[in-house]
Amino acid sequence: MSGAVRVVVLGSGDAFGSGGRAHSAYLIETPHSTVLLECGPTILQAMKGAGHDTAKIDAVLLSHMHGDHFGGVPFLLMEYLYERPRERPLTVFGPPETEARTRRLFSALYEKPAEKPLSFPLRWHEVAPGTPVDVAGLRTTPFVATHVPELCCYGYRIEVGGKTIVYSGDSAWTDELARQARGADLFLCECSTYETLLPIHIAYPEIAARARELGCRRLVLSHLGAEPLRRLEELKLECARDGMTIEL
Ligand SMILES: [Zn+2]
Ligand SMILES: [Zn+2]
Repeated sequence: MSGAVRVVVLGSGDAFGSGGRAHSAYLIETPHSTVLLECGPTILQAMKGAGHDTAKIDAVLLSHMHGDHFGGVPFLLMEYLYERPRERPLTVFGPPETEARTRRLFSALYEKPAEKPLSFPLRWHEVAPGTPVDVAGLRTTPFVATHVPELCCYGYRIEVGGKTIVYSGDSAWTDELARQARGADLFLCECSTYETLLPIHIAYPEIAARARELGCRRLVLSHLGAEPLRRLEELKLECARDGMTIEL
């Protein structure tokens, strides 16, 4: 079923909006469902700017509770309350505390609307590493990402329509990531820095050194920070662009 699964890059930037890029977020589209992977504060601009109807989202999948990854959920809920009234259920999948933190954020941003009953069933599903979960028809297995110690941070191995997508989330480079990426049709990997080595993110040379041995069909770097973006012309590995579509 070639072309039946596609990943739309809504945003490929980091937390700082480097290069004017939207916060990293993706639509995983199949003939049966559309899943929004990550939901930063720029989500509505990114979707509407690229002509996507927000109503088509069947489920939201979040990797961790950093603002550039979940800070847009209240805006999506506002959209479904006022601009694109929703009736069908929405499930938000994410790590522990997804519901509590998102509800607190919604209350802080829009106090009255957050108190209002929603016009649709909103469900929360907190996932656990190694336990596959059905995200709107996508078999999704979380794994632990090595990011910040104060949060539960996940990457995801997603299987749908005979294709496998591995998503790093925000993570340092680890052997686990290499193990997960093996055999994937698409490995969507963060690359936040180039010359600065951090224990919480991947620097371009770290992934470039291992790219050949990963054994994935396609590697696309995203969550691009100022350092890799400054060198975009000279980078050998494929880098995501806002609005790009990856057919699997
Ligand atoms: Zn991030
Ligand atoms: Zn993060």
